[in-house]
Amino acid sequence: MKRVVSGIKPSGDLTLGNYLGAMKRWAESQNKDKDSENFFFIANLHAITVKQDPEQLKKRTLDVVAWLLTVGVDPNKSVIFIQSMIPAHSEICWILNNYVTMGELGKMTQFKDKSLKSGKEGQFVGLYDYPVLMAGDVLLYDADEIPVGVDQVQHVELCRIIAQRFNNTHGETFKLPKATLSDKTAKIMSLNDPSKKMSKSDTEDSFIGLDDTPEKIIRKFKRAVTDSDNLIRYGKDKPAISNLLVILSEFKEKSIPELEKEYENAGYGQFKKDIGEIVAGNLDKLQKTFREVRKDEERLNNIISEGNRKAGTLADEKVSIVKNKLGLI
Ligand code: ATP
Ligand code: MG
Repeated sequence: MKRVVSGIKPSGDLTLGNYLGAMKRWAESQNKDKDSENFFFIANLHAITVKQDPEQLKKRTLDVVAWLLTVGVDPNKSVIFIQSMIPAHSEICWILNNYVTMGELGKMTQFKDKSLKSGKEGQFVGLYDYPVLMAGDVLLYDADEIPVGVDQVQHVELCRIIAQRFNNTHGETFKLPKATLSDKTAKIMSLNDPSKKMSKSDTEDSFIGLDDTPEKIIRKFKRAVTDSDNLIRYGKDKPAISNLLVILSEFKEKSIPELEKEYENAGYGQFKKDIGEIVAGNLDKLQKTFREVRKDEERLNNIISEGNRKAGTLADEKVSIVKNKLGLI
């Protein structure tokens, strides 16, 4: 039996990057791999490392649960829970803080990127400490695999270091997890700067939101930056077009070489119009399902309670083992 754990922050409107890089993969893995136990959680404690409006945060937490169900995460096959509702996450974070150095945390690129954006005044400890909370999220459940996008690989590596250090000091306690990546969709790039990953906390026209209207989606793709020549080809020297090809390939269920052939004689205009239309059409369908799913808050809350109960039992057990080892009564 293999255990899979992964999370998503309710920190903004979910993007195409979250969908292709994480949520869609979660739904697939749950069906492909019958021998796995999946835990997917809404990382609201991570979300507050950047200022959030409390009402929005609450609403978005349920939105993300509804989106997970919409894209096919099945509560009968996967445990869906809310991070803040399981106190063990905060507890383990405090404990693990004593097994990581400031130097190690300072090297994390996400911290460097995000703290650069907020300036010195906005460099709160939570943002700095985020990878430790994340290590705890994973270690509490003896996870084997963490399906994440490339941006999180460094954090999973640090999680292994922390676990190893704890195990060396106190004897075997935590399982060392590994990050699992999908090959192409592990990093969907920003539409107006293909050197940056698409991110829900970036500017509005840089990402496709899962709840963008069809018109908006078509317009955003139309405006997406392209590369210098006008060939529709995948390659390192063509970061913008490669990103668009990856997206199109996911929605058309065609391989990239097939698409390169199909668009051999086409211009960027046609290419971007086609992507816009197919993504808009597909998201429109998903949005209709989402609205239905989101309406039934009672069902959502039942799924959450059941998930919290299952996850909470395991998490509490792990925290009590850890406390015992440390002499914490
Ligand atoms: P934020 O900007 O607030 O950090 P985010 O869009 O990066 O938001 P997260 O909640 O941090 O979203 O990440 C949730 C999951 O989505 C993670 O597994 C992450 O690796 C994945 N992910 C995020 N952005 C992308 C992307 N552009 N391409 C592929 N996967 C992504
Ligand atoms: Mg992120």
